[in-house]
Amino acid sequence: MNSHEPLFRFLADLVAIPSMNPMGRTHIGVGYNEETIADYVTDVLRQSGVDVKTYEVTPHRPNVVAYVDSGAGQTVLLEAHLDTVHAENMTIEPFHPRIADGRLYGRGACDAKASLACFLHTVCMFANKSSGLKYNIVVAAVSDEEYGFTGARCAIDNGLNAEFGIVGEPTQLRIVRAHKGVLRWRVVTKGTAAHSAYPDRGDNAIYTMGIVLSRLQAHGAELIQRPKHPQLGTPTLNVGVIEGGQAVNIVPDRCWIEIDRRTLPEETEDGILKSVESALRNVAKYEFEKPHISIGGIDVSPENPFVQRLASVIETINGECVVETAQYATDAGVYNNSGIPTVVFGPGDIAQAHTATEFVETDQVIRCSEILLQFLTK
Ligand SMILES: [Zn+2]
Repeated sequence: MNSHEPLFRFLADLVAIPSMNPMGRTHIGVGYNEETIADYVTDVLRQSGVDVKTYEVTPHRPNVVAYVDSGAGQTVLLEAHLDTVHAENMTIEPFHPRIADGRLYGRGACDAKASLACFLHTVCMFANKSSGLKYNIVVAAVSDEEYGFTGARCAIDNGLNAEFGIVGEPTQLRIVRAHKGVLRWRVVTKGTAAHSAYPDRGDNAIYTMGIVLSRLQAHGAELIQRPKHPQLGTPTLNVGVIEGGQAVNIVPDRCWIEIDRRTLPEETEDGILKSVESALRNVAKYEFEKPHISIGGIDVSPENPFVQRLASVIETINGECVVETAQYATDAGVYNNSGIPTVVFGPGDIAQAHTATEFVETDQVIRCSEILLQFLTK
């Protein structure tokens, strides 16, 4: 593993720096946020001579963007997220990476620090000898993928652009060229509070929500009867959270639910909200809050020349290449929406992501790095 020593040093260092996503909470402790890991990534890139910029997404939560300009006509984006889910229930040491039995263990090992390590390793190799490159490279290490996708959006708002993108997530070195998107928002019903001994003097917001819920259930059932996208199936709708009322002896004046609507690549946020509104027609006193998660689906053509080149390199190194589709959403939705055809590809298995014993197979990390090297060079 000697020639891969820098690659695994990056990966071990990244896992050893906690970068847990606060997941919307405002009170956070040690080990949360991406600032420390972003500083590490910036230092590593600068020391290798790579041109780096950082952008603050929200306070203490930056993106790091690195550029290697080889003078080529086309640019490839390599993007991975800096954040991980929390580590509270892990049964291994989350931040003391350990290699055993061909696996590297730790929080974020597969989701998605292995991809990030491969991207850093690759871009550092070309810092001072970009002449062999077929493309210019942009590496984006972004914040907040696990919750709000705000890092990817910030990267686009700051002018990130490329002809093709690879979002590094654990796909077992398969190419995910299509996946669903997700739209999440709250619906609020409002009523009038009263003493529960006189319910007729009030207006029960929970009862109104009951009507909303039965309409949404019917709408969700109708969605899965729609004609299927050939790879992704139908859109879905789930109400996952409900909260309302202050006490059992008060007629509740407010109730809210949170909707998770999984979307197909061709659907728009506006169109989806309108169709849910139409399912709720004639229900009085409900309001939509602005969606707090809105990420499009992706559907990159298997004929896309970058996809074909990547697939043929994977086939050379792995002996086969699987191009597939997935139900989950990633940052790739943000890049595709802004016109950068972007697929998902990286070492590790999504089945390991977020688990109590998260690991990545070291052999896949090595092969990912070799695939990137071949893909990016002439
Ligand atoms: Zn991830």
